[in-house]
Amino acid sequence: PPAVEVSGLVVRHGDGRAPALDGVSLTLTPGRRVALVGPSGAGKSTLLSVLMRLVEPESGVVRLNGTDIRELASDDVRAVMTGLTQDPYVFRASLRDNLLLAGPEAGPDELAEAVRRARLDRWVERTGWDTVLGEDARTVSGGQLQRLALARALLHDPPVLLLDEPAEALDTETAEALMADLLDATRGRTTLLVTHRLHGLEQVDEIVVLENGRVTQRGTHDELVGVPGYYG
Ligand code: ADP
Ligand code: ADP
Repeated sequence: PPAVEVSGLVVRHGDGRAPALDGVSLTLTPGRRVALVGPSGAGKSTLLSVLMRLVEPESGVVRLNGTDIRELASDDVRAVMTGLTQDPYVFRASLRDNLLLAGPEAGPDELAEAVRRARLDRWVERTGWDTVLGEDARTVSGGQLQRLALARALLHDPPVLLLDEPAEALDTETAEALMADLLDATRGRTTLLVTHRLHGLEQVDEIVVLENGRVTQRGTHDELVGVPGYYG
């Protein structure tokens, strides 16, 4: 089954309001990356809230690996989907300790310390971060903070990675560098990237454009370039 299957979601935030999601469907198969894009107010946060079981849809179903999320405990949902938010939490400690301690992205499943250390070593080797690991995590830049949060999430090898506007708080240049790194580091991982920055999206397998609670376009970057509604 797909890792994540969203079908026919309808969500209304209040009686008499226009629906924030009006029949949204999308499928994330293992190993693929889907970007959910759309202007502010399109319904992106609402969709993530349904995935994280913070909001109950009026109708529609979300299945994780074939199981309706209503049949799963919240902890089970978090063990499958690990999120990266706009504003990652860091402990008052070194980068190394922030990586090794279970971050909020880790989910409830504690990973053996030896496994985490081995994965950290490999990651440090790849990124050359050995020189900065001793620095206080609260003094690093916004871009580095997001890389830290991503590394912390990846150390736990989550089956599904949710990236919620990871570049939102950053200036354009830093955001583009982060998105490039992030797309590089998540290659081959089952990922739902929610973003309104279109930089680098030629790398994802599918782009789903959400507007006013409805999917208005879907396809690869090459298919969507020039299509009205794809504001690339
Ligand atoms: P973003 O574009 O980053 O999702 P939003 O401004 O759409 O930011 O939403 C930020 C937060 O405020 C979200 O948690 C969303 O659910 C909430 N929110 C958005 N619009 C409203 C609203 N009209 N009333 C109450 N909460 C809202
Ligand atoms: P996006 O993340 O794409 O910016 P949202 O999901 O935050 O979009 O918002 C979709 C619509 O739902 C908007 O009209 C927003 O104002 C409304 N909305 C979002 N959250 C709330 C909320 N908690 N209460 C009321 N309205 C909300």
